[in-house]
Amino acid sequence: MSNLDPIIHIDEQLCTGCRRCAAVCPVDAITGEAGAPQSIDAHRCVVCGQCVQICSAYAAESAPSLATREEKLRQRGQLPSVREPLFAAYSTGHAKELKEALADPKRYKVVQCAPVIRVSLAEEFGLPFGTLTPGKMAAALRQLNFDRVYDTNFGADVTIMEEGSELISRVMSGERLPMFTSCCPAWVKHAETAAPQLLEHLSSCKSPMQMVGALVKTYSAELDGVDPVDIFSVAVMPCTCKKFEAGREEMNVDGLREVDLVITTRELAQLIKDKGIDFLNLPDEPFDSPLGKYSGAGTIFGATGGVMEAAIRTGYELVTHESIPNLQLDFIRGNEGIRTATVQIGDLELRVAMVAGLQYVSTILKQAAEGTCPYHFIEVMACPEGCVSGGGQPKLLLETQRKAAYQARKSSIYRHDSNQKVRKSHENPAIIKLYKDFLGEPLGHVSHHLLHTKFISRSTKEE
Ligand code: SF4
Ligand code: SF4
Repeated sequence: MSNLDPIIHIDEQLCTGCRRCAAVCPVDAITGEAGAPQSIDAHRCVVCGQCVQICSAYAAESAPSLATREEKLRQRGQLPSVREPLFAAYSTGHAKELKEALADPKRYKVVQCAPVIRVSLAEEFGLPFGTLTPGKMAAALRQLNFDRVYDTNFGADVTIMEEGSELISRVMSGERLPMFTSCCPAWVKHAETAAPQLLEHLSSCKSPMQMVGALVKTYSAELDGVDPVDIFSVAVMPCTCKKFEAGREEMNVDGLREVDLVITTRELAQLIKDKGIDFLNLPDEPFDSPLGKYSGAGTIFGATGGVMEAAIRTGYELVTHESIPNLQLDFIRGNEGIRTATVQIGDLELRVAMVAGLQYVSTILKQAAEGTCPYHFIEVMACPEGCVSGGGQPKLLLETQRKAAYQARKSSIYRHDSNQKVRKSHENPAIIKLYKDFLGEPLGHVSHHLLHTKFISRSTKEE
Protein backbone atom coordinates (compact mmCIF):
# COMPACT_ATOMS: atom_id res chain seq x y z
CA MET A 1 0.00 0.00 0.00
CA SER A 2 1.55 3.30 -1.03
CA ASN A 3 0.16 6.73 -0.24
CA LEU A 4 1.28 7.91 -3.66
CA ASP A 5 -1.51 5.92 -5.32
CA PRO A 6 -4.75 7.93 -5.48
CA ILE A 7 -7.46 6.45 -3.26
CA ILE A 8 -10.52 8.49 -4.22
CA HIS A 9 -11.68 8.38 -7.83
CA ILE A 10 -14.53 9.54 -10.05
CA ASP A 11 -15.43 7.19 -12.89
CA GLU A 12 -15.85 9.42 -15.94
CA GLN A 13 -18.15 6.91 -17.64
CA LEU A 14 -20.62 6.98 -14.76
CA CYS A 15 -20.44 10.56 -13.48
CA THR A 16 -23.51 12.64 -14.39
CA GLY A 17 -21.99 15.95 -13.29
CA CYS A 18 -24.68 16.55 -10.64
CA ARG A 19 -21.98 18.08 -8.36
CA ARG A 20 -23.53 16.77 -5.14
CA CYS A 21 -20.01 15.59 -4.31
CA ALA A 22 -18.63 19.12 -4.77
CA ALA A 23 -21.24 20.41 -2.30
CA VAL A 24 -20.06 18.06 0.49
CA CYS A 25 -16.32 18.30 -0.19
CA PRO A 26 -14.89 20.26 2.78
CA VAL A 27 -11.82 21.50 0.88
CA ASP A 28 -13.20 22.37 -2.59
CA ALA A 29 -11.18 19.63 -4.25
CA ILE A 30 -13.77 18.69 -6.90
CA THR A 31 -13.79 20.60 -10.14
CA GLY A 32 -15.83 20.43 -13.35
CA GLU A 33 -18.78 21.91 -15.22
CA ALA A 34 -22.30 20.99 -14.14
CA GLY A 35 -23.52 18.12 -16.30
CA ALA A 36 -19.97 17.01 -17.19
CA PRO A 37 -17.71 14.43 -15.49
CA GLN A 38 -15.90 15.85 -12.45
CA SER A 39 -12.23 15.61 -11.47
CA ILE A 40 -10.46 15.57 -8.11
CA ASP A 41 -7.50 17.79 -7.24
CA ALA A 42 -5.39 15.16 -5.44
CA HIS A 43 -3.26 17.81 -3.73
CA ARG A 44 -6.21 19.47 -1.98
CA CYS A 45 -8.20 16.27 -1.44
CA VAL A 46 -8.01 15.00 2.14
CA VAL A 47 -9.30 11.52 1.18
CA CYS A 48 -12.25 11.79 3.59
CA GLY A 49 -14.56 9.89 1.23
CA GLN A 50 -17.58 12.14 1.78
CA CYS A 51 -17.95 12.37 -2.02
CA VAL A 52 -17.99 8.55 -2.14
CA GLN A 53 -20.76 8.52 0.48
CA ILE A 54 -23.00 11.06 -1.29
CA CYS A 55 -22.65 9.96 -4.94
CA SER A 56 -25.79 8.19 -6.12
CA ALA A 57 -25.03 7.81 -9.84
CA TYR A 58 -24.35 4.16 -10.61
CA ALA A 59 -24.25 1.46 -13.20
CA ALA A 60 -26.97 -1.05 -12.36
CA GLU A 61 -25.84 -4.65 -12.40
CA SER A 62 -27.89 -5.40 -15.48
CA ALA A 63 -27.18 -2.16 -17.36
CA PRO A 64 -23.69 -2.42 -18.87
CA SER A 65 -22.37 -5.69 -20.16
CA LEU A 66 -21.25 -8.03 -17.38
CA ALA A 67 -17.72 -8.00 -18.75
CA THR A 68 -17.56 -4.25 -18.18
CA ARG A 69 -18.80 -4.68 -14.63
CA GLU A 70 -16.20 -7.38 -13.98
CA GLU A 71 -13.50 -5.15 -15.38
CA LYS A 72 -14.67 -2.21 -13.25
CA LEU A 73 -14.68 -4.38 -10.12
CA ARG A 74 -11.14 -5.48 -10.92
CA GLN A 75 -9.97 -1.89 -11.45
CA ARG A 76 -11.59 -0.88 -8.15
CA GLY A 77 -9.83 -3.65 -6.18
CA GLN A 78 -13.17 -5.24 -5.30
CA LEU A 79 -14.11 -8.90 -5.11
CA PRO A 80 -15.91 -10.38 -8.15
CA SER A 81 -18.70 -11.47 -5.78
CA VAL A 82 -19.70 -7.88 -4.94
CA ARG A 83 -23.38 -7.38 -5.83
CA GLU A 84 -23.94 -3.74 -4.92
CA PRO A 85 -24.15 -1.06 -7.63
CA LEU A 86 -20.94 0.54 -8.91
CA PHE A 87 -21.18 4.23 -8.09
CA ALA A 88 -19.38 6.97 -10.01
CA ALA A 89 -17.36 8.19 -6.99
CA TYR A 90 -15.48 5.38 -5.26
CA SER A 91 -12.44 4.55 -3.15
CA THR A 92 -9.76 2.02 -4.07
CA GLY A 93 -10.65 -1.32 -2.52
CA HIS A 94 -8.31 -3.82 -0.86
CA ALA A 95 -10.71 -6.70 -0.14
CA LYS A 96 -9.35 -8.74 -3.03
CA GLU A 97 -5.76 -8.30 -1.85
CA LEU A 98 -6.77 -9.18 1.70
CA LYS A 99 -8.58 -12.35 0.63
CA GLU A 100 -5.36 -13.56 -1.03
CA ALA A 101 -3.28 -12.71 2.06
CA LEU A 102 -5.71 -14.52 4.36
CA ALA A 103 -5.22 -17.70 2.34
CA ASP A 104 -1.43 -17.60 2.84
CA PRO A 105 -0.48 -20.04 5.64
CA LYS A 106 3.02 -18.53 5.98
CA ARG A 107 1.68 -15.21 7.24
CA TYR A 108 0.60 -14.49 10.82
CA LYS A 109 -2.55 -12.46 10.21
CA VAL A 110 -3.50 -9.83 12.81
CA VAL A 111 -6.52 -7.53 12.58
CA GLN A 112 -7.71 -4.48 14.55
CA CYS A 113 -11.13 -2.80 14.26
CA ALA A 114 -11.92 0.87 14.81
CA PRO A 115 -14.42 1.80 17.55
CA VAL A 116 -17.32 2.44 15.16
CA ILE A 117 -17.14 -0.72 13.05
CA ARG A 118 -19.04 -2.57 15.81
CA VAL A 119 -21.94 -0.10 15.60
CA SER A 120 -22.27 0.01 11.80
CA LEU A 121 -21.22 -3.37 10.32
CA ALA A 122 -24.59 -4.99 11.06
CA GLU A 123 -26.34 -2.39 8.85
CA GLU A 124 -24.77 -4.17 5.85
CA PHE A 125 -26.68 -7.30 6.91
CA GLY A 126 -30.07 -5.60 7.19
CA LEU A 127 -30.12 -4.79 10.91
CA PRO A 128 -31.29 -1.33 12.11
CA PHE A 129 -28.89 1.65 12.16
CA GLY A 130 -26.44 1.52 15.03
CA THR A 131 -26.94 -2.15 16.01
CA LEU A 132 -24.03 -3.09 18.26
CA THR A 133 -22.28 -6.37 17.30
CA PRO A 134 -18.70 -6.54 18.68
CA GLY A 135 -18.98 -10.28 19.47
CA LYS A 136 -20.28 -11.28 16.03
CA MET A 137 -17.60 -9.11 14.40
CA ALA A 138 -14.82 -10.86 16.35
CA ALA A 139 -16.30 -14.27 15.43
CA ALA A 140 -16.54 -13.31 11.74
CA LEU A 141 -12.93 -12.11 11.68
CA ARG A 142 -11.76 -15.47 13.11
CA GLN A 143 -13.77 -17.31 10.46
CA LEU A 144 -12.04 -15.16 7.85
CA ASN A 145 -8.78 -16.76 9.07
CA PHE A 146 -7.20 -14.06 11.23
CA ASP A 147 -4.81 -15.45 13.86
CA ARG A 148 -5.32 -12.55 16.26
CA VAL A 149 -8.36 -10.27 16.59
CA TYR A 150 -7.33 -7.03 18.26
CA ASP A 151 -8.97 -3.68 18.76
CA THR A 152 -8.15 -0.11 17.80
CA ASN A 153 -9.91 0.91 21.03
CA PHE A 154 -6.83 -0.38 22.86
CA GLY A 155 -4.78 2.07 20.75
CA ALA A 156 -7.25 4.81 21.69
CA ASP A 157 -6.49 4.11 25.35
CA VAL A 158 -2.73 4.31 24.63
CA THR A 159 -3.32 7.57 22.74
CA ILE A 160 -5.01 9.06 25.81
CA MET A 161 -2.02 8.10 27.98
CA GLU A 162 0.43 9.71 25.55
CA GLU A 163 -1.63 12.67 24.33
CA GLY A 164 -2.98 13.48 27.80
CA SER A 165 0.57 13.57 29.18
CA GLU A 166 1.67 15.71 26.24
CA LEU A 167 -1.17 18.19 26.84
CA ILE A 168 -0.40 18.47 30.55
CA SER A 169 3.27 19.10 29.81
CA ARG A 170 2.46 21.77 27.18
CA VAL A 171 -0.07 23.51 29.46
CA MET A 172 2.44 23.53 32.34
CA SER A 173 5.21 24.97 30.15
CA GLY A 174 2.90 27.20 28.07
CA GLU A 175 4.63 25.95 24.92
CA ARG A 176 3.09 25.10 21.54
CA LEU A 177 -0.47 25.94 22.56
CA PRO A 178 -3.11 25.43 21.38
CA MET A 179 -2.55 21.71 20.92
CA PHE A 180 -4.57 19.99 18.19
CA THR A 181 -5.44 16.28 18.13
CA SER A 182 -3.72 14.21 15.45
CA CYS A 183 -5.82 11.04 15.22
CA CYS A 184 -7.91 12.04 12.17
CA PRO A 185 -5.66 11.57 9.11
CA ALA A 186 -7.83 13.77 6.87
CA TRP A 187 -7.44 16.66 9.31
CA VAL A 188 -3.68 16.00 9.50
CA LYS A 189 -3.37 16.04 5.68
CA HIS A 190 -5.34 19.30 5.57
CA ALA A 191 -3.09 20.88 8.22
CA GLU A 192 -0.01 19.80 6.26
CA THR A 193 -1.43 21.31 3.08
CA ALA A 194 -3.18 24.46 4.29
CA ALA A 195 -1.42 25.37 7.55
CA PRO A 196 2.13 23.95 7.55
CA GLN A 197 3.32 26.77 9.83
CA LEU A 198 1.10 25.32 12.58
CA LEU A 199 2.32 21.71 12.43
CA GLU A 200 4.19 21.97 15.74
CA HIS A 201 0.79 22.63 17.33
CA LEU A 202 -0.41 19.14 16.40
CA SER A 203 0.05 16.46 19.02
CA SER A 204 3.04 14.32 18.03
CA CYS A 205 1.00 11.16 18.75
CA LYS A 206 0.39 8.70 15.96
CA SER A 207 -3.26 7.74 15.54
CA PRO A 208 -4.69 4.83 17.57
CA MET A 209 -4.58 2.66 14.41
CA GLN A 210 -0.85 3.27 13.88
CA MET A 211 -0.13 2.80 17.60
CA VAL A 212 -1.78 -0.62 17.52
CA GLY A 213 0.13 -1.41 14.31
CA ALA A 214 3.44 -0.50 15.99
CA LEU A 215 2.62 -2.57 19.10
CA VAL A 216 1.48 -5.55 16.99
CA LYS A 217 4.93 -5.77 15.41
CA THR A 218 6.84 -5.32 18.69
CA TYR A 219 5.06 -5.98 22.01
CA SER A 220 2.51 -8.53 20.79
CA ALA A 221 4.99 -10.21 18.41
CA GLU A 222 7.27 -10.75 21.40
CA LEU A 223 4.42 -12.14 23.55
CA ASP A 224 3.32 -14.51 20.77
CA GLY A 225 6.87 -15.54 19.87
CA VAL A 226 6.33 -14.54 16.22
CA ASP A 227 8.93 -12.95 13.94
CA PRO A 228 7.56 -9.44 13.11
CA VAL A 229 8.62 -10.00 9.49
CA ASP A 230 5.96 -12.74 9.20
CA ILE A 231 3.14 -10.57 10.57
CA PHE A 232 0.51 -9.19 8.20
CA SER A 233 -1.18 -6.34 10.05
CA VAL A 234 -4.67 -5.33 8.89
CA ALA A 235 -7.01 -2.57 10.07
CA VAL A 236 -10.76 -2.29 9.50
CA MET A 237 -11.67 1.39 9.43
CA PRO A 238 -14.72 3.61 8.82
CA CYS A 239 -12.39 5.99 7.00
CA THR A 240 -10.98 6.02 3.47
CA CYS A 241 -8.11 8.31 4.55
CA LYS A 242 -6.80 5.57 6.86
CA LYS A 243 -5.61 3.87 3.63
CA PHE A 244 -3.54 6.99 2.95
CA GLU A 245 -2.28 7.21 6.53
CA ALA A 246 -1.08 3.58 6.64
CA GLY A 247 0.98 4.22 3.49
CA ARG A 248 2.79 7.29 4.88
CA GLU A 249 6.56 6.74 4.84
CA GLU A 250 7.08 7.58 8.50
CA MET A 251 4.50 5.01 9.64
CA ASN A 252 6.93 2.16 10.08
CA VAL A 253 8.59 0.45 12.98
CA ASP A 254 12.23 -0.58 12.50
CA GLY A 255 11.71 -0.69 8.72
CA LEU A 256 8.45 -2.69 8.79
CA ARG A 257 5.07 -1.15 7.93
CA GLU A 258 2.93 -0.76 11.07
CA VAL A 259 -0.29 -1.43 9.19
CA ASP A 260 0.10 -3.45 5.99
CA LEU A 261 -3.45 -3.09 4.71
CA VAL A 262 -6.60 -1.09 5.51
CA ILE A 263 -10.12 -2.09 4.52
CA THR A 264 -13.33 -0.16 5.18
CA THR A 265 -16.49 -1.27 7.01
CA ARG A 266 -18.13 -1.90 3.63
CA GLU A 267 -15.20 -4.01 2.43
CA LEU A 268 -15.33 -6.15 5.60
CA ALA A 269 -19.02 -6.82 4.93
CA GLN A 270 -18.13 -7.79 1.34
CA LEU A 271 -15.50 -10.28 2.58
CA ILE A 272 -17.95 -11.81 5.09
CA LYS A 273 -20.57 -12.23 2.35
CA ASP A 274 -17.96 -13.57 -0.08
CA LYS A 275 -17.03 -16.32 2.37
CA GLY A 276 -20.71 -17.21 2.93
CA ILE A 277 -20.52 -16.52 6.69
CA ASP A 278 -23.97 -16.34 8.33
CA PHE A 279 -23.19 -13.11 10.19
CA LEU A 280 -26.58 -12.70 11.86
CA ASN A 281 -26.42 -16.12 13.52
CA LEU A 282 -22.81 -16.02 14.67
CA PRO A 283 -22.27 -16.64 18.41
CA ASP A 284 -20.52 -13.77 20.24
CA GLU A 285 -16.78 -14.22 20.67
CA PRO A 286 -14.28 -12.07 22.64
CA PHE A 287 -11.35 -10.09 21.25
CA ASP A 288 -7.87 -11.47 21.91
CA SER A 289 -5.58 -10.28 24.71
CA PRO A 290 -3.79 -8.05 25.38
CA LEU A 291 -4.38 -5.66 22.46
CA GLY A 292 -8.11 -6.34 22.46
CA LYS A 293 -8.85 -5.09 25.97
CA TYR A 294 -10.28 -1.59 26.08
CA SER A 295 -12.01 0.94 28.31
CA GLY A 296 -15.18 2.92 27.64
CA ALA A 297 -12.98 5.94 26.98
CA GLY A 298 -11.35 4.07 24.09
CA THR A 299 -14.69 3.29 22.49
CA ILE A 300 -16.05 6.86 22.39
CA PHE A 301 -13.24 7.96 20.04
CA GLY A 302 -15.67 7.14 17.22
CA ALA A 303 -18.00 10.09 17.89
CA THR A 304 -17.26 13.80 17.69
CA GLY A 305 -15.99 15.02 21.07
CA GLY A 306 -15.01 11.49 22.09
CA VAL A 307 -11.25 12.06 22.09
CA MET A 308 -11.75 15.18 24.22
CA GLU A 309 -14.05 13.41 26.68
CA ALA A 310 -11.65 10.47 27.02
CA ALA A 311 -8.69 12.84 27.49
CA ILE A 312 -10.48 14.83 30.19
CA ARG A 313 -11.48 11.69 32.13
CA THR A 314 -7.78 10.78 32.39
CA GLY A 315 -6.26 14.29 32.45
CA TYR A 316 -8.45 15.32 35.38
CA GLU A 317 -7.24 12.41 37.50
CA LEU A 318 -3.57 12.73 36.51
CA VAL A 319 -3.53 16.40 37.49
CA THR A 320 -5.74 16.40 40.61
CA HIS A 321 -5.06 12.83 41.87
CA GLU A 322 -8.79 12.67 42.62
CA SER A 323 -11.62 10.77 40.94
CA ILE A 324 -13.46 12.78 38.31
CA PRO A 325 -16.90 13.56 39.83
CA ASN A 326 -18.89 12.80 36.66
CA LEU A 327 -17.78 10.42 33.90
CA GLN A 328 -20.38 11.42 31.35
CA LEU A 329 -19.37 14.83 30.01
CA ASP A 330 -22.56 15.78 28.16
CA PHE A 331 -21.37 19.33 27.46
CA ILE A 332 -18.71 17.86 25.17
CA ARG A 333 -21.08 15.67 23.15
CA GLY A 334 -22.82 17.10 20.09
CA ASN A 335 -23.24 17.24 16.34
CA GLU A 336 -21.65 18.87 13.30
CA GLY A 337 -19.96 22.28 13.76
CA ILE A 338 -17.87 23.81 16.58
CA ARG A 339 -18.49 23.42 20.31
CA THR A 340 -16.41 25.01 23.07
CA ALA A 341 -16.22 24.48 26.83
CA THR A 342 -14.19 25.40 29.89
CA VAL A 343 -13.32 22.53 32.20
CA GLN A 344 -12.14 23.10 35.75
CA ILE A 345 -9.25 20.73 36.50
CA GLY A 346 -7.88 21.57 39.94
CA ASP A 347 -6.65 25.16 39.66
CA LEU A 348 -6.57 25.02 35.88
CA GLU A 349 -9.39 26.35 33.69
CA LEU A 350 -8.85 24.21 30.59
CA ARG A 351 -10.42 25.79 27.52
CA VAL A 352 -11.30 23.27 24.83
CA ALA A 353 -12.93 23.22 21.39
CA MET A 354 -14.37 20.37 19.32
CA VAL A 355 -14.55 20.79 15.55
CA ALA A 356 -16.72 18.32 13.63
CA GLY A 357 -16.51 18.90 9.87
CA LEU A 358 -13.29 20.15 8.33
CA GLN A 359 -14.94 23.19 6.75
CA TYR A 360 -15.42 24.65 10.25
CA VAL A 361 -11.72 24.67 11.21
CA SER A 362 -10.62 27.75 9.24
CA THR A 363 -11.52 30.33 11.94
CA ILE A 364 -9.53 28.46 14.57
CA LEU A 365 -6.56 28.03 12.21
CA LYS A 366 -6.58 31.78 11.57
CA GLN A 367 -6.69 32.52 15.31
CA ALA A 368 -3.85 30.05 15.97
CA ALA A 369 -1.72 31.63 13.22
CA GLU A 370 -2.32 35.11 14.69
CA GLY A 371 -1.64 33.95 18.26
CA THR A 372 -5.16 34.86 19.43
CA CYS A 373 -6.63 31.37 19.78
CA PRO A 374 -8.29 31.17 23.23
CA TYR A 375 -8.22 27.37 23.55
CA HIS A 376 -5.66 25.03 25.09
CA PHE A 377 -6.81 21.85 23.34
CA ILE A 378 -8.73 21.38 20.09
CA GLU A 379 -10.17 18.16 18.72
CA VAL A 380 -10.66 18.17 14.93
CA MET A 381 -12.56 15.49 13.03
CA ALA A 382 -12.86 15.93 9.26
CA CYS A 383 -16.16 14.08 8.81
CA PRO A 384 -19.53 15.63 9.75
CA GLU A 385 -19.97 13.85 13.10
CA GLY A 386 -16.61 12.14 13.53
CA CYS A 387 -15.92 8.55 12.51
CA VAL A 388 -19.60 7.50 12.73
CA SER A 389 -20.05 9.41 9.45
CA GLY A 390 -16.79 8.26 7.81
CA GLY A 391 -16.38 7.76 4.07
CA GLY A 392 -15.94 3.97 4.40
CA GLN A 393 -19.09 3.39 6.44
CA PRO A 394 -22.20 1.67 5.03
CA LYS A 395 -23.60 3.84 2.27
CA LEU A 396 -26.72 5.90 2.98
CA LEU A 397 -28.57 6.63 -0.22
CA LEU A 398 -31.38 8.77 1.15
CA GLU A 399 -30.61 12.13 2.72
CA THR A 400 -33.29 11.45 5.35
CA GLN A 401 -31.37 8.34 6.50
CA ARG A 402 -28.21 10.24 7.18
CA LYS A 403 -29.08 12.01 10.45
CA ALA A 404 -30.94 8.95 11.78
CA ALA A 405 -27.96 6.68 11.08
CA TYR A 406 -25.41 9.04 12.65
CA GLN A 407 -27.60 9.50 15.73
CA ALA A 408 -28.17 5.75 16.17
CA ARG A 409 -24.46 4.93 15.73
CA LYS A 410 -23.47 7.59 18.28
CA SER A 411 -26.06 6.40 20.82
CA SER A 412 -24.73 2.85 20.51
CA ILE A 413 -21.17 4.03 21.08
CA TYR A 414 -22.16 5.88 24.24
CA ARG A 415 -24.21 2.89 25.42
CA HIS A 416 -21.22 0.62 24.83
CA ASP A 417 -19.08 3.00 26.93
CA SER A 418 -21.54 3.08 29.81
CA ASN A 419 -21.70 -0.73 29.84
CA GLN A 420 -17.92 -1.13 30.25
CA LYS A 421 -16.62 -1.96 33.73
CA VAL A 422 -13.54 0.20 33.11
CA ARG A 423 -14.32 3.60 31.56
CA LYS A 424 -10.99 5.45 31.90
CA SER A 425 -7.95 4.69 29.78
CA HIS A 426 -5.47 4.82 32.66
CA GLU A 427 -7.50 2.21 34.58
CA ASN A 428 -7.49 -0.37 31.74
CA PRO A 429 -5.47 -3.27 33.26
CA ALA A 430 -3.99 -4.14 29.84
CA ILE A 431 -2.73 -0.55 29.51
CA ILE A 432 -1.24 -0.60 33.02
CA LYS A 433 0.57 -3.83 32.13
CA LEU A 434 1.78 -2.45 28.78
CA TYR A 435 3.47 0.47 30.53
CA LYS A 436 4.83 -1.71 33.34
CA ASP A 437 6.27 -4.44 31.11
CA PHE A 438 7.14 -2.68 27.87
CA LEU A 439 6.75 1.08 27.42
CA GLY A 440 7.97 2.27 30.81
CA GLU A 441 6.17 5.60 31.02
CA PRO A 442 4.12 7.91 28.78
CA LEU A 443 6.37 10.10 26.59
CA GLY A 444 9.33 7.90 27.57
CA HIS A 445 12.05 6.65 25.24
CA VAL A 446 10.18 3.58 23.93
CA SER A 447 6.95 5.54 23.46
CA HIS A 448 8.77 8.20 21.46
CA HIS A 449 10.33 5.61 19.21
CA LEU A 450 7.12 3.65 18.56
CA LEU A 451 4.14 5.90 19.14
CA HIS A 452 5.10 9.45 18.16
CA THR A 453 5.85 10.98 14.79
CA LYS A 454 6.46 14.18 12.84
CA PHE A 455 4.19 15.72 10.23
CA ILE A 456 5.42 17.23 6.97
CA SER A 457 4.54 20.33 5.00
CA ARG A 458 2.59 19.60 1.81
CA SER A 459 2.17 23.26 0.94
CA THR A 460 2.82 24.03 -2.74
CA LYS A 461 3.92 27.53 -1.69
CA GLU A 462 7.11 26.11 -0.22
CA GLU A 463 7.84 23.77 -3.10
S1 SF4 B 1 -19.15 11.88 -8.87
FE1 SF4 B 1 -21.27 11.35 -8.35
S2 SF4 B 1 -21.94 13.02 -7.02
FE2 SF4 B 1 -20.11 13.75 -8.08
S3 SF4 B 1 -20.87 14.82 -9.90
FE3 SF4 B 1 -20.42 12.72 -10.51
S4 SF4 B 1 -22.37 11.66 -10.27
FE4 SF4 B 1 -22.58 13.56 -9.10
S1 SF4 C 1 -12.44 12.54 -0.58
FE1 SF4 C 1 -13.16 14.29 0.63
S2 SF4 C 1 -11.67 15.89 0.18
FE2 SF4 C 1 -11.40 14.33 -1.41
S3 SF4 C 1 -12.66 15.00 -3.08
FE3 SF4 C 1 -13.93 13.62 -1.86
S4 SF4 C 1 -15.03 14.94 -0.42
FE4 SF4 C 1 -13.34 16.15 -1.27
